[in-house]
Amino acid sequence: KKRIAVMTSGGDAPGMNAVVRAVVRQTIASGCVSYAVYEGYQGLVDGGDMIREMAWEDVRGWTSEGGTLIGTARCMAFMQREGRVTAANNMIEKGIDALVICGGDGSLTGADKFRSEWPSLMDELVSSGKRTEEAIKPFRHLNIVGLVGSIDNDLSSTDATIGCYSSLQRICQAIDFIDATAFSHQRAFVIEVMGRHCGWLALMAGVSCGADFIFIPENPPSKNWEEEMCSIVRKHRQMGKRRTIVVCAEGAHDRQLNKVTSSMVKDLLSNTVGLDTRITTLGHVQRGGPPCSYDRMLATLQGVEAVKAVLDAKPDTPSPVICIVENKIVRKPMLDAIAKTKEVAAAIERKDYDAAMRGRDAE
Ligand code: ATP
Repeated sequence: KKRIAVMTSGGDAPGMNAVVRAVVRQTIASGCVSYAVYEGYQGLVDGGDMIREMAWEDVRGWTSEGGTLIGTARCMAFMQREGRVTAANNMIEKGIDALVICGGDGSLTGADKFRSEWPSLMDELVSSGKRTEEAIKPFRHLNIVGLVGSIDNDLSSTDATIGCYSSLQRICQAIDFIDATAFSHQRAFVIEVMGRHCGWLALMAGVSCGADFIFIPENPPSKNWEEEMCSIVRKHRQMGKRRTIVVCAEGAHDRQLNKVTSSMVKDLLSNTVGLDTRITTLGHVQRGGPPCSYDRMLATLQGVEAVKAVLDAKPDTPSPVICIVENKIVRKPMLDAIAKTKEVAAAIERKDYDAAMRGRDAE
């Protein structure tokens, strides 16, 4: 029987548990043996009890749970070849040669590297005397399938990452709460949201909540953004608005790549426009709580598709990542999706904001 392991890696995202549930159950329903790797790549490197066989009932009720119940970690050991040799040995120990990984672009990059290196890792296990040629014969190919779990919605090739709509929902709820008090005291609030390279959360939250001004990394405001923002806020106030909301992505900057911080925006609203201004940094509340229905559905449909992709995989086909494009669950080449994602970050770095926006539009 084929043994398929599932793992969550990188930053946690709502919906990861629904992924694990779907992968475990589809694996079992397909007549295979299911394993979960605990604590991301660290569990793969540590082996032993960190790689556990999963039964159908082990994941009961997991669709509605936030975070990831099998844990996640940033693992330095897996960045080194030595760590990956150990990880490969631990997988062979359990008879596993297929891995479904739910994480961000870093996790998927690591996964693809692991797969391309796999034949040489097997050779190393034999040459170091850890395994015999005979023992590794059934494990000559590693199957990797990626699922994108990230609140940022930052991966190219998919319309939505698992977790982004839960996070957006949480941000909008928080802004609604702040709105009430802002209105009462006629205050301004600068809301800082997550997103170091990707402004999707800030943009969509701003649109959904009727923000007065939004800062995103891919499309910084004009050169004289200070005057522009102040004049827009003043105009809104003159029209009778009793509250001001400015949404600022964590990675916001101006067109010269100088950081735009929440406190800079607050000082302008306080000192130039004369508003009683507060900053609210939403922080990890954006990651917490149960996933919204969309993320549960996306995680479940994509988890099922991931197991089907493992079973369809051929040794010479590139590793797929499961995406959603125009409401259809599709498989895309993982490396291509990662490369396109990195292109957007590179375009921001070289201040080519048109290319950055084109990159996002193409997602
Ligand atoms: P997030 O979007 O939340 O940052 P991520 O998956 O991009 O999630 P990373 O911290 O970049 O998070 O990667 C998670 C783990 O994946 C790393 O700690 C490391 O163990 C592994 N990894 C990342 N990049 C590589 C790589 N180039 N080679 C091997 N392993 C890697």
